[in-house]
Amino acid sequence: MKHFALFGNPVDHSKSPQIHALFSKYIGIKYTYNAINTKINEFSKTINKFFNEGGSGANVTVPFKKKAYNFSNQLTNRALLSGSVNTFKKINDKYILGDNTDGIGFLNDLKRLNFIKEKDSVLIIGAGGAARGIILPLFSIFCSITLTNRTLKHAEETAKAFNKFGIINVIDFNHLNSQKFDLIVNATSSSMHGTLIPLPISLIHKKIACYDLFYGKNNTIFLDWCQCNGVCKLSDGLGMLVGQAAHSCLLWHNVLPDINKIIKIIKQEL
Ligand code: NDP
Repeated sequence: MKHFALFGNPVDHSKSPQIHALFSKYIGIKYTYNAINTKINEFSKTINKFFNEGGSGANVTVPFKKKAYNFSNQLTNRALLSGSVNTFKKINDKYILGDNTDGIGFLNDLKRLNFIKEKDSVLIIGAGGAARGIILPLFSIFCSITLTNRTLKHAEETAKAFNKFGIINVIDFNHLNSQKFDLIVNATSSSMHGTLIPLPISLIHKKIACYDLFYGKNNTIFLDWCQCNGVCKLSDGLGMLVGQAAHSCLLWHNVLPDINKIIKIIKQEL
């Protein structure tokens, strides 16, 4: 039996082990998948140990996706372009391939929810690994992107890293007042910490959709704020989580599980 794992800090809240247990059942391939809480300064050491002891592949989450990018011996095109890795696969017992399945999981989920169309204007809040993973999928459908972040310098660095693919407008929280978007994506880990991002209410209008990459049993604090201010189209990132996991499964086992079916089951279990 092959062994897979999730590395992050924290990982206790993660639904990935349940999702992969369901994939294993429905695709008929037995594999183990454990969440491993990884000390901040011990990422490389922990990953090396896992692969040396026979691990076949892994997922990486907050806050290690950029470290995972640097750890990889080889990168898929989408990982290379996003500068961030959420999936490892050991190839021929020799080297570690780094991939990024967040982008495809994200875009598929927006389409499933009917939250996106070509050329939409999108505000991304956040400039970490997750934000980097969702920029190219949005450019691929000709969206215009505005980026804001608690540390503006990080948003500027991210925008610069993508400037060969399109223009990203960088703006700080205090200057969002006069802006209008079709979709707001919270790609920060603020909801994980229960912190509300100081957004102006003027961003909200009847047709806007709001998406939080974080997910949980109840609405995140960001989605609560959106709902209180009249947003009807809102979703957390559970669908994206299942989607990115399904594409990791495809990389590891050459089978794409039924994403809609697993979303329904996990929602009931929350
Ligand atoms: P990183 O650690 O790489 O980046 C964190 C980002 O969040 C940075 O932009 C950081 O800002 C910002 N941030 C952190 N705390 C706060 C706060 N209290 N207030 C405002 N901004 C804050 O994390 P990732 O990019 O990998 O992940 C971000 C989120 O996306 C997580 O909640 C993660 O669970 C979720 N996620 C969900 C996925 C899914 O499948 N549903 C997939 C991937 C991620 P600064 O630059 O100032 O530090």
